[in-house]
Amino acid sequence: MTTISRRSFLRYCTASAAVLGLDPLRLGLLNDAMANPSAPSVIWLHGSSCTGCSVSLLNRITATGDTIAQVLVNDINLIFHATLMASAGDPAVAELLRVRKSGNFVLVCEGGVPTAFGGRCCITYGFGGGEITYMQAVQELAAKAAAIVCAGTCASFGGIPRSGSNPTGVVSVRELTGRPTINISGCPANPDWMVWAIVQLLTGTPVTLDANGRPVDLYAKDLAGAAAPELIHDKCPRNPALTGAPLAAGFGEDGHCLELLGCRGPHTRARCEACWNGVPGQGTWCIGVNAPCHGCTEPGFPGPQPFYEPFSG
Ligand code: SF4
Ligand code: SF4
Ligand code: SF4
Repeated sequence: MTTISRRSFLRYCTASAAVLGLDPLRLGLLNDAMANPSAPSVIWLHGSSCTGCSVSLLNRITATGDTIAQVLVNDINLIFHATLMASAGDPAVAELLRVRKSGNFVLVCEGGVPTAFGGRCCITYGFGGGEITYMQAVQELAAKAAAIVCAGTCASFGGIPRSGSNPTGVVSVRELTGRPTINISGCPANPDWMVWAIVQLLTGTPVTLDANGRPVDLYAKDLAGAAAPELIHDKCPRNPALTGAPLAAGFGEDGHCLELLGCRGPHTRARCEACWNGVPGQGTWCIGVNAPCHGCTEPGFPGPQPFYEPFSG
């Protein structure tokens, strides 16, 4: 499988220390954790998802020129990831099962869990001629995992696969397993927030979660770790009450508030305004590029849109 060489992960974390909230002491802890050959492995499963959370993560190019793909493959002991691992088939699953037995692993789930039809809407892997559903794989691995991280809103809350009449009976990982999960919600999950969660687990740092299983440090604090308004609207640089910005009447109006265009910032908790695309405070987030927030970090996302309804027209 993969090897633990610490270089690019530590280079990445050092370059992104502000976004990840890492001080020199924590970087030292991370260095020690990465040097420990018995550090937990990572098993990453895909369920009812578009794989966009992985794609978003893999597209993150660090200030040092490394991609997260390099980081994951070269620096983390990534045992299983359907699109990244070098092995395939029974040998890959045999390694997963070996690590499952040890319990020394972090389970990352990307995708909601379909429970209708015995879970057979989503087969996660085959082994020994049989097929293992995502539902079964998540249940068996979650029971043994040292910690569980949900990558994105699908795994955290159900997201798009759960929307409308939810014909495949999608539930969140937490609902299925009854175990606490660290929910890095977002559609897709913010790549730096995903790395942040992995760093906390590797360094043994306790993570305080809100009522929806989201880390308070990521969803209710600013980059310096100070308490900040939770709602995007209450810290948005386009808030008319805070900055006098005019209301946009149409798309493409730079600097205008997007409330009349359906912006869900008044109902959305996150700190997207501070960091997206690896550039703190530089406006490279949805609203910063004139797109209304559609509330992708919230349990109610995507709302009442009839995804997956039978076509009647
Ligand atoms: S949360 Fe969004 S981007 Fe991530 S897997 Fe689900 S649909 Fe795709
Ligand atoms: S753009 Fe959206 S989040 Fe920003 S002030 Fe207007 S409604 Fe609120
Ligand atoms: S601004 Fe809104 S839609 Fe955009 S990533 Fe943040 S929560 Fe999601």
